[in-house]
This record gives sequence, C-alpha cells and structure tokens, in this order.
Amino acid sequence: MAARPVDHTVGMEPSDEPLPHDLRHETGPFDVIGDVHGCHVELVHLLRELGYSPGGAHPDGRKVVFVGDLVDRGPDTPGVLRLVMAMAAAGNAVSVRGNHEEKLVRALKGHAVQLNHGLEQSVEQLARETPEFRAEVLAFCDSLVPHFVLDGGKLVIAHAGLPESYHGRESARTRSLALWGVSTGRYDAKGFPVRYPWAQDYRGAAMVLYGHTPVEEPTWVNGTLCLDTGCVFGGSLTALRYPEREIVSVPARRAWYRQ
Ligand code: MN
Repeated sequence: MAARPVDHTVGMEPSDEPLPHDLRHETGPFDVIGDVHGCHVELVHLLRELGYSPGGAHPDGRKVVFVGDLVDRGPDTPGVLRLVMAMAAAGNAVSVRGNHEEKLVRALKGHAVQLNHGLEQSVEQLARETPEFRAEVLAFCDSLVPHFVLDGGKLVIAHAGLPESYHGRESARTRSLALWGVSTGRYDAKGFPVRYPWAQDYRGAAMVLYGHTPVEEPTWVNGTLCLDTGCVFGGSLTALRYPEREIVSVPARRAWYRQ
C-alpha cells in the first residue's frame, strides 16, 4: 500500500478560525461586571438586579461579560466559579482572564507560587471541592484570554485596560498590558500599586471597560471606564449595561479582605 503523500501545505493555509479574542460578531446587549473576587452573594444579588434568572439566563437574551479577577480574597471563590462556568457553558457569559486567574492557574498546575494577595483563600476553598471540580476550574481559567474585541470592534474588554494600538493584537506585550498594566513602582495610601494612567492618553474609538484597580465610583475617562469598585474590600459590585451605559451596583455585605 502506497504511503499517503505528505501535504506540505497543511498548517500553512490561512485559517478561517477567528482568534480567541475576536468576538466582533457578538453585538450584545451586554452587562459588563467588574472584579468579583469570590464575592458570591453579591454576584447573585447583582445578577438578580440586572434581571437574570437564578440559572443565569436573561429573558431579553442579554449576556454577561466579566472583566476578570473572579477569584481570590473573597469568601466563596468556588461558588462564583460554579455560577460563572455554568453561565459560560450555557452561552450566557464570557470572561477575560485577570491577573488572579493567571496565578491560580499556575497554582492549580502545581507550580511553586506564593500564596498571597488572596490566592491562599482560593486554594483553601478549592481544597474542600472534588478533584473533578478543581480540574474543571483549571480548564476554565486556563481557557480565558486576556482581552476581547466585541460588537464589531466598538467594545474592548481587558482586565487592566488596553491602549488602542493593542486592540485585537496577540503578543506578549498585549497580554502583559491587559493582565497587569504598567506599574509605576509606587503605592497609594491604601497600599495598592499605582498603575500608569493609560486611560488619560486614550483617544481610541472603541469603548474600553476594565477593572484591576479599585475605584470609589466608576468615572468615564476618554471612553474608558473602570468597573472595579472594590466589592471584596467592602465597596460594591458594579455592572455597566451596554449599550445603554447604565451603571447598576450592589453594596458589599461587609469587607471580606483587608488590603
Ligand atoms: Mn482585582
């Protein structure tokens, strides 16, 4: 029997598969939710305020987009993941990767990582779950990409924000900016690292929604909005309805973690 000829063009064809960040065909409407950090009760409350059923579906077909940092610090990271993974599996939610998912993935893969900044809570809580659930969590968190381009390019979601020239790009620099932003090496009065204020320079056409740096109140800066209102520190959990641009937020039941 003759061997099949080797097809040297395989793998060199231009692919019709969209890149994983490319959700331009998803036109919404969306509810974009800031850093949850294991605050399960507040997430359930916010989803109810936004009109989602207990199962995580919306009667008007709306979808949730999470800005990442679902995990760490808070009281119920497994509960948050169980809900978000079920919503994602049903096509009712997507999430970008936050720096906390990045580190949790490394921990779950067995890499030596420092158990700090609230990772210790996630590891402890996940240790009480089944190995099957931990494997699902690892697969889910490891599948998350650092940024999304949505609605024909009019909406960009990245955990730490993203300058326009990196929208839709796949590179180490894009990934680093989307996950961590640019550190200034300084810390604010509450002990949070001060990030380079990229939004001040932003002149792009796309709306950029992000989290990562807790703010007291979401404030529009050049078409960008930070939705991390520090729920786990006793602030609130915040969503932006897109395209309506309405802010919906619920207060934290208490401060769950001291910075
Ligand atoms: Mn965060």
